[in-house]
Amino acid sequence: MIDLRSDTLTRPTDAMREAMARAEVGDDVYGEDPTVAALEERVAGMFGHEAALFTPTGSMANVLAVASVVSPGEEVLCESSAHIARAELGAHGAITGLTMRTWTHERGQVDLPAIDRLYAPDMGPFFVRTAAVSVENTHNFAGGAVLPLDDLRALRAWADEKGTRIHLDGARLWNAHVATGTPLVDYGRIADVLAVCLSKGLGAPIGSLMVGSADAIAQARVRRKRMGGGMRQVGVLAAAGAYALDHHVERLADDHEHARLLGEALGLDPATVDTNIVVVDRPDAPAFVAAAAEEGVRIAAVGPRAVRVVTHLDVTRADADRAAAVLARLG
Ligand SMILES: *Cc1c(COP(=O)(O)O)cnc(C)c1O
Repeated sequence: MIDLRSDTLTRPTDAMREAMARAEVGDDVYGEDPTVAALEERVAGMFGHEAALFTPTGSMANVLAVASVVSPGEEVLCESSAHIARAELGAHGAITGLTMRTWTHERGQVDLPAIDRLYAPDMGPFFVRTAAVSVENTHNFAGGAVLPLDDLRALRAWADEKGTRIHLDGARLWNAHVATGTPLVDYGRIADVLAVCLSKGLGAPIGSLMVGSADAIAQARVRRKRMGGGMRQVGVLAAAGAYALDHHVERLADDHEHARLLGEALGLDPATVDTNIVVVDRPDAPAFVAAAAEEGVRIAAVGPRAVRVVTHLDVTRADADRAAAVLARLG
C-alpha cells in the first residue's frame, strides 16, 4: 500500500527513535525538561519571536494562539475553508468562546478588500468586535497553496494601520519556506502569533508549537495546563521534533516534486501544485478513492466532490511514480 491520505501518516525513522531514546528529560510542568526548553527556544528564534510553547497537537497550538489575540465573545476573521474553521471541531467556539466570520478564496489566499469589508472593531454594543485575522500557510484544503509573502506583508501593513492582530496557522509553513525560499523569520514577522507542526511532513510522531511574545506564551502555558495539556517528561517527543528540524526540512522539496507528478497524473497543470498536497474536484470522489485503494494506493475524499493526495517522508520517488501510474490509469 502507498498511503497518500495525509502527511501525518509518517512513522519515526530509526535515527529519530535513537534521538528520542537519548533525550535528556525532566518534568516540563515544573519547567525542568531541558530538551523541551531547547526546542521552544530554538523554534521561537527561527521565527524571530520571544518564546514558544510545545503542544501535543497543532489544534491545541492554534486554540492557544488564537485565544491569545481574541477574547471570549470577540471574533476572528479567516478564509472559509481554513483548518481553524473546518477541521478543529469547533474548538475555538467551544473552548475559547469566540466566533468567526469568513471570506472565501478558491486558493485560500489573503483577500484584503474582503477582509477590510468584514473588519468591524468598534460597531457599538450590538455587533461582535473583530479582534484578529487568521491566515493559513500553506493552505491545506486549498491544495497546499502558498500564500505569497507580498500578500502577507500587505495584510501586516493593513493590520498595523487598523491596530488589529494576525494569527498564522503555519502547520506546513516549512513547506512554504522550502517551496519559495522565503526565510522563516520573514513569515514570523508578519504574525503576532503563529502555530507550527512537527508531525506533518517533518515526520515527528507528535508535536506542535505556538510561537509569540513572552507574555502570550506565559498565558498560554496556563491555558494549556487548564486544557489538560501540561506534559511531563516529553523531552523524548521534543527530541523527535528537533531531529526533524535538523534532517527533514530541506527534503520537503522531494515531496513537492512527487506531488507535482501526482497532480499531473490527476489532470492538473503541475505548475499549480505549490507544495505537497494535491486537491482535485471529482464528482465521483468516494468511488475514485475506493478504486485507487483496490490498486494499492490510498487517497482521501475531503468532500463529496473532492479528493486529496498528500506526499510525505515515507513516500519514495518509486512510490510516487507507481501511484501516479495508477491514478492516471483510473483517470
Ligand atoms: C494538521 C493541521 C493542523 C493541526 O492539526 P492536529 O491534527 O491537531 O495536529 C492545523 N492546521 C492545519 C492547516 C493543519 O493541516
